[in-house]
Amino acid sequence: MSPAGRAGPYPTYGSTGPAGPTTGFVEVADRVFVARYKQWDVNVGLVLGRDGAVVIDTRASDVQGSQVLDDVRRLARDIEVRHVVNTHVHFDHTFGNAAFDTATVHAHDNVGRTLEADAERIKGLFRADPGDGPELGYTARDAADVLATAVRGPDRTFCSHATIDLGDRVVTMAYAGRGHTDGDVAVHVPDTDALFLGDLIEESAHPSFGIDSWPLEWADTLASHLVEASDRSVVVPGHGRPVDGRFVARQRDDIAAVAAVIRERRLGGGSLEDALHEPDSRLPYPLDHLGSAIRRGWEQFSPPTP
Ligand SMILES: [Zn+2]
Repeated sequence: MSPAGRAGPYPTYGSTGPAGPTTGFVEVADRVFVARYKQWDVNVGLVLGRDGAVVIDTRASDVQGSQVLDDVRRLARDIEVRHVVNTHVHFDHTFGNAAFDTATVHAHDNVGRTLEADAERIKGLFRADPGDGPELGYTARDAADVLATAVRGPDRTFCSHATIDLGDRVVTMAYAGRGHTDGDVAVHVPDTDALFLGDLIEESAHPSFGIDSWPLEWADTLASHLVEASDRSVVVPGHGRPVDGRFVARQRDDIAAVAAVIRERRLGGGSLEDALHEPDSRLPYPLDHLGSAIRRGWEQFSPPTP
């Protein structure tokens, strides 16, 4: 997500749980929890094991990261968060990292490479517009906390797969290609079939096609992650209620439809300006939500020369 905004109406097919933010962590599978916070409507995951806990994403500031830690301790005082996983680079998933000072922070190689620059970019946006964002659930105080955060990047990065051993269970991390960003990873708890997909999937808004998205590759990336999912899977999106595999398949198809229209227009030889404004009944999202998707697709796809 960016501070710029989210779009409705919201898809609800195959989603479970309360429609809005909850208080603290809610168990969605055996010793797998999700807390949904009102600022940017972001989800944080928690996986408990014999040898400690994994937190998945850390919210948007040092202050908010500390609140996550308080919520973990409210479940049980002796939980030790040994690992943090960032599903991708965006500030609402990474800026709370510093609150987990005894944990190892894991992320994709590309997050390690881009986090500092992305943090500066986002702080620049907040500096330019330091007010509140009621439609995104944040106050001017939250924005000030974002700006005051000394961003902590990952300690350990990986290219395709990595595993965290919690003694009696493992948590796996997998990269399957570019999509929402160039560093989105899936976090899987194989003994429960819980799968965290970060912003590769959104439930409470349309998928976010930002200026760092890869709209033409996104659907294939999701298809690869879907191999990990079964009918029984609980899939936790970056924003909104947990969903099932059918929801993920449908959102993948919608993203593939966006890519197909962009490719077709690019191959047709028309202008980018026309592509940005021409309606098409096959597009599952409003055109004004797809500006970055179309611009990015235009840059990323060159029609073959005859
Ligand atoms: Zn994001």
